[in-house]
Amino acid sequence: MADDTKVAVLGTGIMGAAMARNLLSNDMEVRAWNRSREKAEPLKEDGAEVVDSPADAARGADFLLTMLADADAIEDAVSDGVLPALVEDGVWLQMSTVGEGGNERLLGLAANHGVAYVDAPVLGTKQPAEQGQLVVLASGPEEVRERSEQVFGAVGSRTVWLGEAGEGSRLKLVVNTWIVGILGVLAETVAFANTIGVDPAKFLETVEGGPLGLPYAQIKGNMMIEEDFPTSFSANLARKDAGLVLDAAEAHDLRMQITESVAARFDEAIRAGHGEADMAAVYHAARPERG
Ligand code: NAP
Repeated sequence: MADDTKVAVLGTGIMGAAMARNLLSNDMEVRAWNRSREKAEPLKEDGAEVVDSPADAARGADFLLTMLADADAIEDAVSDGVLPALVEDGVWLQMSTVGEGGNERLLGLAANHGVAYVDAPVLGTKQPAEQGQLVVLASGPEEVRERSEQVFGAVGSRTVWLGEAGEGSRLKLVVNTWIVGILGVLAETVAFANTIGVDPAKFLETVEGGPLGLPYAQIKGNMMIEEDFPTSFSANLARKDAGLVLDAAEAHDLRMQITESVAARFDEAIRAGHGEADMAAVYHAARPERG
């Protein structure tokens, strides 16, 4: 594959900035746009061109990579003039988490402009993104898969190819149901341990290494014990993801009471001012009152 591949990256938050750096270190040209330009500026040092508008980023690009918070932000950014600015056979790699309905809307937008669209949300958080170790859940047209692998291979260690665009987002929703549930019950477990006089560190130590001892629970559980929540994935976005699961469940007539109740806990933590903290800060809504 030619090493003058041009990628327009829209969104240089925690994930997008790390992904852009991996594209650059894999010899691709990156033009980056972010709503708050100052967050994109540091990418210049890595060789990216930082531009003022999504259309500037897309001009002449082979790929449009979107890594924004949600479908509304993407729809706003990919407005008039962005998709037509790509090269003729340009491909839109939509890697943010947008759920079932969001994916439909964005797929429709791509179809209106005759642009190939790959639905490709990712598994993995800040550190895997920095290390190029994400797992890409990709779905979309056969004819652009091989080309898209160049980008996916730079940001991830594995691409799981599914069927038609939308299957990636659906699998991502399933994984997110699991993550949101784990976080909710982990917060309650740590709070319960504290309340009945059990050291929650003893709980983590007891399950560590066995079938119950998820490495994920160790990481997030220790954040809860220390009440220190440096953000890998914000509580705001975790709440958004819980909402995407619940929207899809409702559309398919399924009631998900556990996810509903963890979503309510996230709302509480966010109302208390912890929205920008790591999702493990949902603990704030579960922890015992301290006198
Ligand atoms: P982040 O650090 O909060 O960045 C969010 C990005 O969206 C920023 O570029 C932000 O711009 C932009 N944005 C938000 N609202 C916008 C709007 N209305 N118009 C234009 N831009 C807007 O989030 P992230 O963690 O990188 O997540 C990005 C996507 O990846 C999300 O869909 C998330 O669910 C998904 N994801 C995240 C993780 C993770 O562990 N972090 C893992 C898998 C998937 P500003 O800088 O101007 O605010």
